[in-house]
Amino acid sequence: MTNGSIPFAHLLRGPDTAAQGAGVVHLSGGQIAQITPAPLPSAPAAGDILMPALCNAHDHGRGLRTVAFGAQDDTLEVWLSALSLEPKVDPYLRAAAAFGRLALSGVGVLNHCHNAQDPQALVDEACAVARAAADVGLRVAFAAPVLGHNPLSYGDPGPLLDALPEGLRTEVANRPRALPSMAAQLDAAEEVFTLASPHFLPQYGPVGPQWVDADTLGEIAARSARHDRRVHMHLLETRAQREWADSTYPDGLIAHLDALGLLSPRLTVAHGTWLRPDECALLAARGVMVSVNTSSNLRLRSGIAPVADFVAAGLRFGMGLDGMAFDDDEDALRELRMLWHLQRGFGLNDVLTPQSLWRAVLSDGRAAILGEDGGGTVIPGAPADLLALSTDRIMADTIADRCHPSELLLTRATKADVAGLWVAGRRIVADGRCLGIDLPEIEAELLAQARAGAAPMDTAAQGARAEAMRGYLHAGCHCVPPPTRNKRAAE
Ligand SMILES: [Zn+2]
Repeated sequence: MTNGSIPFAHLLRGPDTAAQGAGVVHLSGGQIAQITPAPLPSAPAAGDILMPALCNAHDHGRGLRTVAFGAQDDTLEVWLSALSLEPKVDPYLRAAAAFGRLALSGVGVLNHCHNAQDPQALVDEACAVARAAADVGLRVAFAAPVLGHNPLSYGDPGPLLDALPEGLRTEVANRPRALPSMAAQLDAAEEVFTLASPHFLPQYGPVGPQWVDADTLGEIAARSARHDRRVHMHLLETRAQREWADSTYPDGLIAHLDALGLLSPRLTVAHGTWLRPDECALLAARGVMVSVNTSSNLRLRSGIAPVADFVAAGLRFGMGLDGMAFDDDEDALRELRMLWHLQRGFGLNDVLTPQSLWRAVLSDGRAAILGEDGGGTVIPGAPADLLALSTDRIMADTIADRCHPSELLLTRATKADVAGLWVAGRRIVADGRCLGIDLPEIEAELLAQARAGAAPMDTAAQGARAEAMRGYLHAGCHCVPPPTRNKRAAE
């Protein structure tokens, strides 16, 4: 049912207009048809504040939270060495649990950077993700992963392998063999594009410039331009990646990506934590967008994104949860507040205003996921992707006329206040539950599969892996290309 009407007490139309009083939004054919005023007092059935649905510009759709399966928060490179602990589960349950939780936190549009459980079965997994997206009812941009360059570490893996106990060394050294060639991964991506639907929007997903060779990046850039398809890629997330980029591309990684033709309005990069002002300017000039993943950057010790530089350069950005919400609870409204407080600017330095925050989260973040589609605002003709929030909790102690709900939203709202979510005019969340799936049942089944399938953890091996990676990065091995290292070793 994509027709109907939603009453509201306060309307937050979008980034560039002030909140307004009570009324009714009328829906037709998945779009907003009309907005009419309603006399107060009205008794809004769906919640008190109506606003555009939240957008999550970077995520991975893992139904199992990483700390729960043994990958504790730590420096990204150390944390990555523990990600293989994720138990294998049904890919539909994995995605549906993640999407359902995000819907409950008010996210209607999201990016899903797929981490394949079985890289040989990417297309099957994509089919399952597409089904989960349709069942939950979200708009999901699926980044089909392409990776394999530097599979064990950014530089020469020799010192990393040398630091591992013998049995573990062979196992780690052999792991890259499980990956199909990049050409085969691109072929699989092309198959994934045939699954496109309003709920499932495939994109190219080169996982990061350190993990994809230049020829493949150039090929992806060419296909993106030829077919007008979007590309989503991690970029300069960590200090080690910054150092690797500076040593590998003395003339600049971003200039190198530009020469490959990758920088365009079709590209979204995730994190950008270590971007420099001149790089921000080049990305902005090419129309690239960034997903700022604040809590993830804190939990994985990556840093704080230079949003002031983004703003100064005119580099557009959105908000991403990256599967790493601050309290590990997929709360997009708390993430919004993290972004606001960390990046608003201190003292009288207004880096962000509420309007520019809303533009990032609702409008630019949406464009970073879907491209420009006229959404992110509540006006006739826009897609009916809408979030209703109850003000019962956040206004329980307020004094009449002393504060506006839209201010309290930034200060207090969490997913506990989500009263309803509509995507393309279809209501997908009501009364704290997903209407398209039985989320508690899916979560229970997912957990049962994970617990049954999880092999006993080899704590010693895990510790050895983490220590080897720490030592490798400490020694700066990620910046030493193999020939130089070998020459030094021979001296
Ligand atoms: Zn990510």
